[in-house]
Amino acid sequence: MQRRTYDVVVVGAGIVGCATAYHLARAGQRVALLDRSGVAAEASDAGAGMLTPLAEAGASDLNDPLLRLGLAGLRHYEALEAQLESEAGLWAGLVHLPTLYPAFDDGQAEALRRDLAALQTLRPELRWLEADEVRQREPLLSPSVRGAVFSPAEGNVAIGHLTRLLARASVLNGAELLAPRSALSLLWDGARVRGVLTEVEPIEAAHVVLATGAWSSAWHAQGECAAIVYPLKGQLLALRTSGQPLRHTIYAGPLGYLVPKADGSVFVGATSERRGFDKTPTAGGLAHLLTVVHRVAPALEEAAVDRTWAGLRPVSADGLPFIGPAPSSPGLWLAVGHGRIGAITGPVTGFIIAELIQGRPVPYDLDLRPFAPERLGPWRRRLTALNAAEAAQRQPELFSQAPTQAEAAAEDQRRERS
Ligand SMILES: Cc1cc2nc3c(=O)[nH]c(=O)nc-3n(C[C@H](O)[C@H](O)[C@H](O)COP(=O)(O)OP(=O)(O)OC[C@H]3O[C@@H](n4cnc5c(N)ncnc54)[C@H](O)[C@@H]3O)c2cc1C
Repeated sequence: MQRRTYDVVVVGAGIVGCATAYHLARAGQRVALLDRSGVAAEASDAGAGMLTPLAEAGASDLNDPLLRLGLAGLRHYEALEAQLESEAGLWAGLVHLPTLYPAFDDGQAEALRRDLAALQTLRPELRWLEADEVRQREPLLSPSVRGAVFSPAEGNVAIGHLTRLLARASVLNGAELLAPRSALSLLWDGARVRGVLTEVEPIEAAHVVLATGAWSSAWHAQGECAAIVYPLKGQLLALRTSGQPLRHTIYAGPLGYLVPKADGSVFVGATSERRGFDKTPTAGGLAHLLTVVHRVAPALEEAAVDRTWAGLRPVSADGLPFIGPAPSSPGLWLAVGHGRIGAITGPVTGFIIAELIQGRPVPYDLDLRPFAPERLGPWRRRLTALNAAEAAQRQPELFSQAPTQAEAAAEDQRRERS
């Protein structure tokens, strides 16, 4: 059997894998990027693409690792946008419209104002707008709005477009895109990883990066028995307006959000459901999204329904992504579990992994310890990795089970904050 040899093989061509391949190829590494379906075939073509790290954070802990990673993600976007537009000569997919965090009752207004003072120490450009000014700036918002936090630098991205652009820029820089191609298992040389076995051929590489999204549990030592990363279904709705466009991303806390896109459509999101790997849009999901429209921007009830769809967020059992070297397995790297914030943090994760593989320091002064892959036990060393979708088909209850205590606590914390 013919063997191919690379410096790095990246498994998974979502936003995380494509960003990793791009940064490595740009630095002159020989890279293979493989995906069993294609580029941006899963969450990275389904997400709403909000670049709003503050939406996922609260003011209670300004050192929250996700907040820090999200803010580094925003900084990284500035460099990435300029880089991609000058190198590839193409629009990077960013929509530079500000974000509003509206309050619809006095309690919400009080909570937002309380958080604002603390968050301004990190982002001084944030400010409070009284109801009149909010209505003036965003006439489509519900007249019941009591005020809003205005965040001028949190825009949104066409995540599928950016992912495909990163794949293209990787190839322009010499990476080889192999898709459709599945990684079936890891190849080992003693304790060291030396590549992956695919259905076509073995691919040898000094480093293997797993960026396998919601399917990553298959690579954990417990395999499909421990949903170390589980799929969290999110349904979205796209509206097409013929009248006045929405001028801001509107993040209305746990209720939902509205995201104005470059083509004039508005994404309405999103549900959060444990349904295994099922991606079917449902009547109940649509009903929830229509409630978001009705309560946040009733003027949009006149808009045409363009489409509905669902995707699978890769959520880790403790709510934090796994970023870094796998324990006791030199050559194996994890870049998975970015959950709700993979659009914000996927590109910076790719950059971090690329820098670490090249022996450089962690960029953006980030403390990576909270994201260390060993925290939930060992990752697979010698066993053949199962295809997680197959595993889920055989034992669906393992992937749609009630959240573990750690997951529930992480989710509660997130809700409290937003
Ligand atoms: C409804 C919804 C709304 C969202 N909104 C936002 C938002 O507003 N802001 C934000 O920051 N984030 C958002 N997200 C989250 C974001 O989209 C994800 O976190 C991100 O896309 C995850 O990227 P990924 O590369 O890790 O995974 P994916 O894009 O899922 O890519 C993983 C890839 O790995 C491949 N793969 C898996 N196993 C193998 C194997 N064995 N061999 C070969 N290939 C394999 C799969 O085919 C897939 O293409 C949203 C997600 C959803 C679903």
